[in-house]
Amino acid sequence: MRITYLWLVVIVLLPALANAQSAFMALQPDRIFSGETLYESGEWLLIKEGHVVGIISTEAELPPGTEKQQLKGKTMIPALIDGHAHLGYQSVNSWGAQNYNDANLLDNLSQYAYYGFSTVFSAGSDPVAFINELRATIELESLPVATPLAAYGVAPKGYGPNNTFLDEIRIVEAKQETNILFGLDQISDIQTLLNAVEPKRDAIIKIWVDDRAGTQPKLAEPLYTELVDQANRTGIKVVAHQQDSDDTVRLVKAGVAGFLHGRFEDELGEGLSRSLAESNTFVIPNLGLSLLRRMTIAEDPLLIETLPPATLSRLGSRVFAETEKTIPASNSNDLIRWQLDQLISNLDASIKRSFGSAIERGVPIILGTDAGALPDHFFGYTGHKELEIFVALGMTPEQAIRAATYAAASRLGLNDRGLLEKGRRADFLLLNSNPLNDIRATQDIHAVFLRGIKLDRQAISRRLTQD
Ligand SMILES: [Zn+2]
Repeated sequence: MRITYLWLVVIVLLPALANAQSAFMALQPDRIFSGETLYESGEWLLIKEGHVVGIISTEAELPPGTEKQQLKGKTMIPALIDGHAHLGYQSVNSWGAQNYNDANLLDNLSQYAYYGFSTVFSAGSDPVAFINELRATIELESLPVATPLAAYGVAPKGYGPNNTFLDEIRIVEAKQETNILFGLDQISDIQTLLNAVEPKRDAIIKIWVDDRAGTQPKLAEPLYTELVDQANRTGIKVVAHQQDSDDTVRLVKAGVAGFLHGRFEDELGEGLSRSLAESNTFVIPNLGLSLLRRMTIAEDPLLIETLPPATLSRLGSRVFAETEKTIPASNSNDLIRWQLDQLISNLDASIKRSFGSAIERGVPIILGTDAGALPDHFFGYTGHKELEIFVALGMTPEQAIRAATYAAASRLGLNDRGLLEKGRRADFLLLNSNPLNDIRATQDIHAVFLRGIKLDRQAISRRLTQD
């Protein structure tokens, strides 16, 4: 029955992409940043059947009959990946379990696609089988939306996410008659959990190691150590939510794949940075989560493209909490930039120091936003702001883009995307200016291609902004 409903949603809301082109197509922007390498000598991206054939140096080398497009002034980068979000609960209007259904999930995923995202990892708040089914349909039908990945959520029985989110997740569990959260209170729970994980390889488990200021029991070290050990031997990745640096140290030792919150404010110092780099454990800084909530984001032209007027007027009551100083901006774009700049420059010195040390030591940093975990932290939009924060704190634009593309894909076990090279999916953005000069260029999107097909961004925007 759910499938029937899903198909109805698909047919009504998302006219399928035109069939993936079977002929060769080549695009020649001013520059291509593959996710690893920069090409600026007039190279062509050659694609066929939704995949990259190669980056070709000269027009003469293109196969006969190739459809060619020259894109003056444009920069091509791989489509982006959000390595930490929570799909389904946020709609364009409201937040909560009442929104968790196929139609809203597809809305969330088309919002991601609108902002140039190919993929999003929803971390521990979904029925995994349900998301896997949705993903299979999206891929089979080439729907013009981002691909969702989901994780099994693990904590002491009955706990895990913050108490507000926990209540909403329980409602979805009851409605769908399935488990989202799995209790881990004794060693024998581990086998039960691992038996439930499907498919075994490349599946992801998320653990919460957090007592929520004394309101929840914290997952005990011997339990997560054994879980991570057994999971890793089966090819299952374990990623962690943690709160303080002592737990971070223990979790690195246990062998988690990465951390969904950097906790730079907790002084992720030299020693810990070194250990993260040496153990090759990834970190998602997730700094925008607290900063964007203090901004008047309803005035951001970028966000206005995907929200209905009623939501914008509700958000419009927000004031910029940081300062009473006169706002020097002449237009709303400048106003938003100014607010973010203010917040970043007022960040605690320890955060800046930790972030700088992580970059310097080579800690694998990937993009993640926690979008959808709490009300009005919006999908896709927040990822672009996070990239601005990365660069403001000392990453080069190349490093920031890599964190949101190739690095994120590798860490999530996705070897078919995130890099513009032979054989991978032709998921990419065409930007109106050069993000390697100014990372904010990722917000000025000319076009989004997923599986080699150009997205109808205007249609997505029209649909999402309807009241
Ligand atoms: Zn989260």
